[in-house]
Amino acid sequence: MFLPKAELHLHIEGTLEPELAFELAARNGVTLPYADTDALREAYRFEDLQSFLNLYYELMAVLRTERDFEDLANAYLARAAAQGVRHAEIFFDPQAHTSRGLDIGTVVEGLWRALGNSEANHGVSTRLILCFLRDESAESALATLDAAKPYLDRITGVGLDSAEVGHPPVKFRAVYEAAAALGLRRVAHAGEEGPPEYITEALDVLGVERVDHGLRCVEDPALVERLVRDRVPLTLCPLSNVRLRTVDTLADHPLPAMLDAGLMCTVNSDDPAYFGGYAGDNFDAVRATLGLTDERLRELARNSFLASFLEDDEELRARYLAEVEAHTFR
Ligand SMILES: [Zn+2]
Repeated sequence: MFLPKAELHLHIEGTLEPELAFELAARNGVTLPYADTDALREAYRFEDLQSFLNLYYELMAVLRTERDFEDLANAYLARAAAQGVRHAEIFFDPQAHTSRGLDIGTVVEGLWRALGNSEANHGVSTRLILCFLRDESAESALATLDAAKPYLDRITGVGLDSAEVGHPPVKFRAVYEAAAALGLRRVAHAGEEGPPEYITEALDVLGVERVDHGLRCVEDPALVERLVRDRVPLTLCPLSNVRLRTVDTLADHPLPAMLDAGLMCTVNSDDPAYFGGYAGDNFDAVRATLGLTDERLRELARNSFLASFLEDDEELRARYLAEVEAHTFR
């Protein structure tokens, strides 16, 4: 039995497994520049964030219709459920699709076909978080938020992802202010490849409630103190950090030290099809390699529900937290 957990850092486009990529390519008459799934899986080797992003955007060409997005989300939810995920707050990148000529409605409605039935079909509650691509312009982010307005009943919050360095949070001040005015929750990637100052800026300028990654906070003791004091959740992604060389090896990951420091850490899969594992795989990896105790693992699971945007359903959150406390480790 996997430990019950919430997944708070998951890009739905990053759950595209080679098999589904080929299936969707065939369905949509798209030719992929790979001979077969083995050749594509071979391409899932990266030097850094940018080389990953190049392949990630290339493969999005296979996603064309509502049904494609529905199939993508259902495939993720089934895998996540099998690894103990009880609640998932799912990122999507509308600009990666609207730039290819798709309507944002195709993306949201397609995802919603799966998410809206996820509790019944997979036993996983969900929220949807719209992410802005930080290497696109601030104007493009504002236009994206505007285009999303008819779908806000489906969208819980906004986030910020893609290539971090050179694109500081302050660039997106206006769109985050607009999102806050619409009642949307706010998160942002910060301190993955970018410096600790980006984390501070995400908190102060964008008003984020959670920091995605936030790994590099460890370089700034005053920032760590602040994150501990204010109980700011960090959505860490250990296997992603290894694959993108943010840390040299998993054994070098600062997660144990971060927990010891009192930081509110969570463990997530980021782009699991590309980074070698889903949420449960990440928990297994940190347990095996970093020697986390059962109580530390339970703390990570507890944090995931406490950090989730379940304020609109505290009864459900309480039920999940009780499942965490009742879990027995093998
Ligand atoms: Zn991410």
